[in-house]
Amino acid sequence: MNMDWTHLLRNWLWQDRPQTGWPPDHLLHPKRFEAAPRMAALALLACVLFSGPIAFAGEQPLAKLRPVPFTEVKIQDSFWAPRRETNRLASIPFSLQKLEEAGNLEDMRLAGRGATNGFRGPVFMDSDLYKALEAASYSLATHPDPALEKQLDDIISLMAAAQQPDGYLNSYFTIKEPGKRWTNLRDWHELYCAGHMFEAAAAHYQATGKKTFLNIATRYADYIDSVFGPAPKRLGYPGHPEIELALIKLWRATGNQRYFEVARFFVENRGRKFFATEHQTPLDKYDGSYWQDDVPIYDHQNIKGHAVRAAYLMSGVTEVASQTGDERLLKMLDRVWRNTTERNEYITGGIGPSAHNEGFTVDYDLPNQSAYQETCATIALAQWAHRLALLYGDAQYADVLERALYNGMLSGVSQDGTKFFYVNPLESAGTHHRSPWFGCACCPPNVTRTLAALGGYAYAASADSLYVNLYIQGAAQAKVGDTAVALKVTTDYPWDGKVALTLTPASRAKFALRLRVPGWCHNASVAVNRRAVKVAIVERGYLVLDREWNRGDQVELDLPMPVQRVAADPHVKADQGLLAIQRGPIVYCLEQCDQAEPLASLWLPVEAELKAAREPRLLGSVVTITGQARIASEQKWRRSLYQPAAPVSRVALKAIPYYAWDNRQPGAMKVWLPVSPPLLPARGLEAQAKVTVSFANDNCQPQGINDGLEPASSGEQPAALCHWWPHKGTGEWAQYTWKTPVQVSGARVYWFDDSGRGECRLPASWRIEYLDGRDWKPVTTTEAYPVAKDKWCAVRFAPVKTTALRLVVQLPPNFAAGVHEWKVDGGDDGQ
Ligand SMILES: [Zn+2]
Repeated sequence: MNMDWTHLLRNWLWQDRPQTGWPPDHLLHPKRFEAAPRMAALALLACVLFSGPIAFAGEQPLAKLRPVPFTEVKIQDSFWAPRRETNRLASIPFSLQKLEEAGNLEDMRLAGRGATNGFRGPVFMDSDLYKALEAASYSLATHPDPALEKQLDDIISLMAAAQQPDGYLNSYFTIKEPGKRWTNLRDWHELYCAGHMFEAAAAHYQATGKKTFLNIATRYADYIDSVFGPAPKRLGYPGHPEIELALIKLWRATGNQRYFEVARFFVENRGRKFFATEHQTPLDKYDGSYWQDDVPIYDHQNIKGHAVRAAYLMSGVTEVASQTGDERLLKMLDRVWRNTTERNEYITGGIGPSAHNEGFTVDYDLPNQSAYQETCATIALAQWAHRLALLYGDAQYADVLERALYNGMLSGVSQDGTKFFYVNPLESAGTHHRSPWFGCACCPPNVTRTLAALGGYAYAASADSLYVNLYIQGAAQAKVGDTAVALKVTTDYPWDGKVALTLTPASRAKFALRLRVPGWCHNASVAVNRRAVKVAIVERGYLVLDREWNRGDQVELDLPMPVQRVAADPHVKADQGLLAIQRGPIVYCLEQCDQAEPLASLWLPVEAELKAAREPRLLGSVVTITGQARIASEQKWRRSLYQPAAPVSRVALKAIPYYAWDNRQPGAMKVWLPVSPPLLPARGLEAQAKVTVSFANDNCQPQGINDGLEPASSGEQPAALCHWWPHKGTGEWAQYTWKTPVQVSGARVYWFDDSGRGECRLPASWRIEYLDGRDWKPVTTTEAYPVAKDKWCAVRFAPVKTTALRLVVQLPPNFAAGVHEWKVDGGDDGQ
């Protein structure tokens, strides 16, 4: 039977909503959603709750809400509070220790001593230190800790010593390249590092009231202001945006309007192709899209380039546009936001599918196993979403914020708080794991600062409204107009959608309480002082309770949380014929250790019942989803390529929250599940082999050689790559070892070649050897070993029975080599 999945899924989703739940807006069919991203969710709510027109972002008046600062928010729940405690007690001290081991702190000491050598690490080492200081400062604000405060004071003295007389502060340039300040804004991250310093300084001031750090930051910002700006000052802007949003924070912390003006200058001049001038690139050969420098900032039609840069930039643009009201910027933001969330966002709330540019490719390119989805990019999207949520007071933005925080951000750190993901795939063969630290350590402190300041994302206020964006048990102190309002929240969110709120205004006051109805939710209901609100108003995704409030008034909100199946937009090739499981804001995955059968063999029929149950002892207490999956035997899978109706048997399936994967024994994982027998790619003998290599440095991932990911070209940059760099011109090998002897008769290699950006080239030559007793012997073949780019290089040989095979490689003179994939063909049928 020939099924048209796109057709089937669409009909199923539209016709069978109550059973299936509600897929997130942006994952649905774009024709319905291009015009109104949130309309369908609201249309459904309308039956129960809604009356009133829907306005679209871009046509909306600017709400310009004030966030309720994290210092005024108490988090006292069973979900975030333990994680924040782990963050405070484990992750933050651990990252400060790692910064010592990796050299970030020593670099600052050396700069303070006026050293001229000894700098360690990449050019942006200071930024990771600043992010960790920011996290530690937030933590101090909610949990005073004299020892940590002293540690910060000591680091701040190091920075004060390293600051140059004119205010400049960057350990790399002070130690290593003193004559090269501001000579490569595109690649050398000076302004990026400065930005993270300003964010950290503002956080430290907010947390401690001390100006020690803030004074260092303002001296540096004053110096930057003296260098960059309209003529006669210099044109320029950062290759890695971040300083724009940071200068806004510094402006808010100090009230110095100059900082806002510098941010505005960086934003409004971006796209003048400054990097082409800086690098003497002829304009007809310049593609600035990686740095969002290909067109004037006003003219962007879509999200592009490096994902973290793009989303940090858009955060800064949102801040500037919020102040200036610039229509052109607001329209650009609206276009790019919709392109991002409707065509380029993962269900886990992350962005940037490609390892090649750590960023975007083309619309709807959202692969799962090779998903890059850098932790920082998810955080950057959350930050942008938060700023738009404040700008417009529209719940669609807070929906994206929630999705990112509960899924792609939280997956970035292990349960014990000491291991981190840089790359967050949505499917793994079992070879992807968190690491304690990274040579490029941007992600770990980004997670720690986000967790430490989490309360700041939950509430916002205006002159006449109090907004609740995140439902977290605890308390908050807000100001609505001139009225101080204390809020107490009781809930077991995200596991249960019942939320009880008690409002205590300083005195009787009239204002609107606006409760976000999440995009995934329908049939929301609300009661005030135990009386159901029959005709509730929903505006911009918020349920509005506009009334006079008395001390102790009680609101009970019910957001039903059935298990939902979510279909991706049919344009997303990687997810065709697949569904994901979601419950409330939590996206689920299957991990091999919970399944009795190989994950690759499981499929979940659309009619299979799914049940949710709390497992208090699992992964820090989670709700798991269970049901009956189907499985076909391995032989049957293979046959199922030709006979989709092959007989099947049932097997129990268990799904856990995506954020919690890779905290138990290593194994396969996937988010998107087939709804019919999976058409398995024919994996060869390599899939069962153990990989060893003659040499591997830190950034080599030998497991990439048999992960089954076939590249589109040799130049593609996979997340995991087996290579021998920085060895050059030497003889090297990769080895497959099997537990029991296998018969082999052929091999295929897809070579890696990063000409133009790296030092890997096609090998000078290669051959296959097998283990015969204790000796390595070449296989017997009459064929030549081909060496070519962008295709499989295959060789067949006389069958041998062995427990180990070697791919022996002669690296070319002055270059290294790498392998995307090495397949081994069996001896009997060539499979
Ligand atoms: Zn990162």
